[in-house]
Amino acid sequence: MTKNYQMYIAGAFCDAGDGQRFDSVNPATEEVWASFPEATAKDVDRAVKAAHQAFTEGPWSRTSARERGRALKRIAHELEKVGPELSVAETTDTGKLLRETRWQAGNLAEIYDYYGGLADKVEGSLPPVGPNQPLSMIVREPLGVVGAIVPWNSQLHLAAFKIAPALAAGNTIVLKPSEEAAAAIVEFARVMHAAGLPEGVFNVVTGGGNPCGQTLVSHPLVRRVSFTGGVETARKVISASVENIAMLSLELGGKSPVVVYDDADMDNVVNGVTSAIFAASGQSCAAGSRLLLQDGVYDDVIDHLVVRAGDIVVGDPMADDTQMGPLATRRQRDLIERLLTESVDAGAKVLSGGGRAGRDKGWFFEPTIVACDGQDYPMVRNELFGPVLSVLRFRDEEEAIRLARDSDYAFAGGVFSRDFGKAYRTARAIPAGRFWINTYRVTNYAMPFGGSGNSGYGREGGIEAIHDYTQTKAIFADLSGAPVADPFVMR
Ligand code: NAD
Repeated sequence: MTKNYQMYIAGAFCDAGDGQRFDSVNPATEEVWASFPEATAKDVDRAVKAAHQAFTEGPWSRTSARERGRALKRIAHELEKVGPELSVAETTDTGKLLRETRWQAGNLAEIYDYYGGLADKVEGSLPPVGPNQPLSMIVREPLGVVGAIVPWNSQLHLAAFKIAPALAAGNTIVLKPSEEAAAAIVEFARVMHAAGLPEGVFNVVTGGGNPCGQTLVSHPLVRRVSFTGGVETARKVISASVENIAMLSLELGGKSPVVVYDDADMDNVVNGVTSAIFAASGQSCAAGSRLLLQDGVYDDVIDHLVVRAGDIVVGDPMADDTQMGPLATRRQRDLIERLLTESVDAGAKVLSGGGRAGRDKGWFFEPTIVACDGQDYPMVRNELFGPVLSVLRFRDEEEAIRLARDSDYAFAGGVFSRDFGKAYRTARAIPAGRFWINTYRVTNYAMPFGGSGNSGYGREGGIEAIHDYTQTKAIFADLSGAPVADPFVMR
């Protein structure tokens, strides 16, 4: 039976004003399993106004930093109770392995705890000024209503890195999940409700890019837009900000290189590369999808990887022994198939996989490894967001760096070598927001992430992120008791 979800506006669960809904399909079965309200522009306007009211006049506007910190700790506490329910909803909606969504739900609370602890540590400063100058204070203040947009993958985590610092700093939020998979975020709204946040502080609107997303990012009361998604959508978000001059951060896709030198440890390489491209079925912004192998290890690494890829258990994302679930959307599978076919037609050679994984239903795709003799193949230039790895050969460090840098994206990267100096030089030479040496994909909430170029701008995670949800105000206070000087008399 289809599960009918509601959105969350001004502290209450509700349907769209005109009653319209859209369906969500389970990617493992291709069956409709849930439906959501299709928010109208008026619904989004109501949510933004509720958030604005909460920011300017509601009890949230009068909370101390410590109280906000305590609210975030209550969210963490509630999350610990309902984590398993959230993970089942996310897996059903996106096909991400239950083992992984369970693990992610388990440490989601840590993110809220972390920013809860930072809430009362957002400090201003007093720069040194001359003895005859007024006291000069810099205070940090929240921005107002934050419009947050997330894609379908790792949505609870990605949302947490927006919600937690934004609320800790005193802002209010309207969050829009992806129309491809909104269940986990709407379930999460129950957590926020149970945590007792004042009405309007946190709102969820569900719907597609237009009118829901577009109305949110261009709304005149939205002061800050925090967007995670693809580069083409980001261009629309940037255009929309022309309307409201909102501050933007853009967390976009990647085409991250993984460089393997001749002296690398083979077991580490095989595990690291498998994790870089086949974990989460390659549906990760940080996926290491361009493998660069030095001549001396090229054949050996390929042999090991082909065996490993062939052993990966593709199947039901709810099952404990599954290692790779389906792609989350049919659209993504179609894109992968098209770019792969174009690349093979242009001369790329499939070494492993290359097609739909043999199941009747569901958007499953085989772990795929493709040898490319250059970078000018569609699958090397474009983000596929799936379990497809291109492999290229290089002679020396200089060539590895040149190939790695030759991309419109700059989100992440990795290097494997026993020579730390060479690995470090490589890490420094390749543009990226995060870089792994002799490992891949490991992360924690204290480390920032984000990119440059087509991977966007801004950073999320870590201490600095909280400052991105504040702005400074410079206050000059003349405490000398002296009369205000005549402005037309120069001293
Ligand atoms: P997408 O760009 O299609 O959609 C992202 C979100 O934008 C969705 O909620 C969508 O409804 C919304 N949207 C669409 N049109 C809009 C508009 N005109 N105005 C406002 N919002 C609009 O991306 P996707 O396919 O859901 O996600 C995959 C992409 O996200 C990949 O490129 C991936 O690399 C990227 N991603 C980046 C990160 C990161 O941290 N950098 C993390 C995860 C995913």
